[in-house]
Amino acid sequence: MIRLANFISNQDADAVGGGRIDVFEPAVGAAYATIPDSDERDVKRAVDAAKAAFPGWSQTPAAERARYLNAMADGIERRLTEFSESESRDQGKPVGLATTLEIPRSAANLRFFAGAVQHERGEFYRTDDRAINYVLRQPRGVAGCISPWNLPLYLFTWKIAPALATGNTVVAKPSEVTPYTAWMLGEICREAKLPMGVLNIVHGLGSKVGAAIVSHPDVPTISFTGGTSTGAAIASVAAPMFKKVSLELGGKNATIVCDDADLEKAVPLIVRSAFQNQGEICLCGSRIVVHRSIMREFTERFVNEVRSLKVGDPKATDTDIGAIVSRQHLEKIQSYVALAKIEGGKVVCGGGAPHLTAPRCKNGWFHEPTVIVGLSPTCRTATEEIFGPVVTIHGVDDHGEAVQVANCTKYGLACSIWGRDIERLHRMAAKIDAGVVWINTWMLRDLRTPFGGMKQSGVGREGGDEALRFFTEAKNVCVGW
Ligand code: NAD
Repeated sequence: MIRLANFISNQDADAVGGGRIDVFEPAVGAAYATIPDSDERDVKRAVDAAKAAFPGWSQTPAAERARYLNAMADGIERRLTEFSESESRDQGKPVGLATTLEIPRSAANLRFFAGAVQHERGEFYRTDDRAINYVLRQPRGVAGCISPWNLPLYLFTWKIAPALATGNTVVAKPSEVTPYTAWMLGEICREAKLPMGVLNIVHGLGSKVGAAIVSHPDVPTISFTGGTSTGAAIASVAAPMFKKVSLELGGKNATIVCDDADLEKAVPLIVRSAFQNQGEICLCGSRIVVHRSIMREFTERFVNEVRSLKVGDPKATDTDIGAIVSRQHLEKIQSYVALAKIEGGKVVCGGGAPHLTAPRCKNGWFHEPTVIVGLSPTCRTATEEIFGPVVTIHGVDDHGEAVQVANCTKYGLACSIWGRDIERLHRMAAKIDAGVVWINTWMLRDLRTPFGGMKQSGVGREGGDEALRFFTEAKNVCVGW
């Protein structure tokens, strides 16, 4: 068993209470590491360290803070293979995905905000001939960054990088389900000689560590990514404390296929958008809304493509779909497939446990990519977040109805629309209730753009200037003439 430790003041630390929590490898269904079962005492130590580091770090010139972030990115890139294999082992994702997308993006997050903070522009307002106003954007103190299990290091660094770049110090909590690469990031910080206490990483349960970060009076800023119900719990604690909170929450994203879509090009991308990372990406399109005139052709092409996906050992380079992150999550996915049948759905592809050839995976947690038709777009299966390799396909009579169906859940994170009539696509995009709308593409992310959800998919935006603003306090200085 590998023993992971908290990272506080650049030192490894066990939980004050001494307890440990098992960490599982989903592909084999067995524990391989443990993390400290930390609680509010460990969070207090981390917050004290971050508070002590704040005056120095916030006064450090932006170019120097950027140099540290770039050194951390260098460290991740130097150990790309080790990071990718660890992420794949911990989360169940295919190692190829971690190597080509997620770990490089984690380094890119650090580099992006290292650059952004050095290219910030100021704001000035002349009040006739009476005064000139300028705006100071100052770091807010200790930021609490809490992240989920689906894209572990990618989302962890997406929060930490802008917080540090803008001069805040950080207490961060990775998911207890996938803590490994966050632990490795501590080593990277030490190698990069990040000043003591600037970034502190506390492992453990959300109900203990996450809750203690959120309720700590000396953590005025909370950046959270995770489930909608957890977001609601966090908001209820943070609101009366007047904390600044960013919540990136769940989704049930629609993929709209118009009658003029180029199916040859679109279908492979739509399959990827549905099943990448076993469907465990908040941006995955899990409801496909298709114009009825092409429903039959689309479904045939889609199902054929899905059948060609290889479910297998995440370690294998030819695996498309790896393991489901936990037994509990696998059971949730299975329960939704059972519910879909009760709700009148027909499983046209997948639906159960795949046959795996790798002997080491015989006790692992896997689920076939699953396609369900014949459901009402308003039923539970089609409106609740499953967050696994399960998609439903729904026919609509016109493009107005497609938008209505896309908007018919409580979520509003992302949507992709596929078609050729560009005017119509723009009109539809404007009417979709989602923070991100892709036209003829998916998951193409420019880090300068605002990222976040509408409705119950979140509050606030990350990315680019939005993140720089979130982690700073704007102060208007008005100079009379
Ligand atoms: P989760 O809400 O269970 O946990 C997320 C994090 O919050 C974990 O670190 C957890 O330990 C912590 N936590 C749990 N209870 C807490 C509490 N009371 N106070 C503070 N922290 C607490 O989510 P998950 O199961 O890890 O992740 C899956 C969810 O995340 C899905 O709903 C998915 O859609 C969402 N997600 C959203 C985005 C986005 O950008 N909108 C991105 C990725 C994942």
